[in-house]
Amino acid sequence: MGKKTTFNISKTENFSEWYSEILNKAEVTDLRYGVKGFVVIRPWGARIIDKMFRIYESALRATGHDPAIFPAVIPEKNFKRESSHVDGFAPEVFWLEDVKGDDKLALRPTSETAFYEMYNLWIRSYRDLPMKIYQRANVFRSETKATRPLIRSREFHWIESHDAFATKKDAEAQVQDDIQMTEEVMHKIFGIPFLPMKRPQWDKFPGAVYTVGSDVIMPDGKVIQQPSTHLIEQHFVKAFGVKFVDEKEKEKTPWLTCYGPCMSRILASVLAMHGDDNGLILPYTLSPVQVVIVPFKGKGVDSAVNDIRAQLLGEYIDVKVDDSDKRPGEKFFFWEMKGVPFRMEIGEKELESGEVTLFTRDTKEKISVSIRDLPEMIKNLGAEYDERLIAKADEFSLDKIVDCKDKVSIRNALDSGKIARFSFCSAEKEGASCAEYIEKELQARVMGTRADLDEKASGKCPICGKKNTVVVYAGKSY
Ligand SMILES: [Zn+2]
Repeated sequence: MGKKTTFNISKTENFSEWYSEILNKAEVTDLRYGVKGFVVIRPWGARIIDKMFRIYESALRATGHDPAIFPAVIPEKNFKRESSHVDGFAPEVFWLEDVKGDDKLALRPTSETAFYEMYNLWIRSYRDLPMKIYQRANVFRSETKATRPLIRSREFHWIESHDAFATKKDAEAQVQDDIQMTEEVMHKIFGIPFLPMKRPQWDKFPGAVYTVGSDVIMPDGKVIQQPSTHLIEQHFVKAFGVKFVDEKEKEKTPWLTCYGPCMSRILASVLAMHGDDNGLILPYTLSPVQVVIVPFKGKGVDSAVNDIRAQLLGEYIDVKVDDSDKRPGEKFFFWEMKGVPFRMEIGEKELESGEVTLFTRDTKEKISVSIRDLPEMIKNLGAEYDERLIAKADEFSLDKIVDCKDKVSIRNALDSGKIARFSFCSAEKEGASCAEYIEKELQARVMGTRADLDEKASGKCPICGKKNTVVVYAGKSY
């Protein structure tokens, strides 16, 4: 008898337990490394992240970005060159103190101050613009709050792209393109819907004119920030002496943006959003194993399985044959728990009929598929499967937003795990004290205003009673 591999925790009733247990059971992460906020990502998690990186990087290349690899350390003097940036990040920087004969070095919490140092050398004239460079990197932030694996860690694995333009208009268009990329990749491929929120002035990236964050609603109703994009203040760029000569030989400061999709954190949303009480449900596009074959003993089965495996691999379908000596039932539960989209059962009976049985992870339905057109069928079914996951996630997220008018309804919405949408006095500095009240009294964060919609405010602020100018969203957050 092998060990029991069933997984059965109610995701809706106890999301927190579900999340930590499934990371462990499905071998996504291992928390036993022993350093707070640093987790080991095991092969099952790393292979999903690898697929996410590849998809994101090809989207970036397709939009004119080039890769670079920057050092993980940033000298203190670079880091301190722009005051709002250093003030914003200083509390969470890991410093390397004992570097003999060198400046004190920061482990990068983000790399603006590394890229700009080089953009000062690389950007000379308008002909060098736009310059769009990204790197795939790990960054470090000394979180003081309680950490949660993949959600709030002290090391995370992301892509940061730093783009330079001749005009503010071009840079602002890039911010919109970044939001569009989040839509095309994170939503339309990974199946994670989000609200593009322009952050209030008191909550923007340190050194930015403005920030647009992508807020994802998790199953427990809490909000997690996914990719954010920023238009950078020109004094930040000037602090590094980055400039260019325009067509009329005039010296100018370029406009910069940055965009930071974090694969390890998006993975948290992918696992949380799609999974069910029996474990993970991975999008077909991201699953390390897209089809697991469970063969039954019988004449001719082994060679038929080898043929099918080779056929699927030849069509770039990730397939795994589970010929371990576990009982079939155990294998079924195990791969279900790991989130594999399709399980194929093959025995003598299937070979005689020329059809295999295919179990689908999300619907738990079994269908028969002709052995002859397997690769084609699986690709089609895989595309339909991902469409279903997206539609289900969309429905879940839409249902979470509640329109509110006063303190009581805002409180009720937040306490029942929803996001409150309401008219508010201001997203500029003047609104900060009302937002602070919401944070203290209702333990929720004012997420900002929609960057993709023009929502009209009405009435008086539910907190201060002044005339409303914006529609904001508020939610509890990680
Ligand atoms: Zn107010």
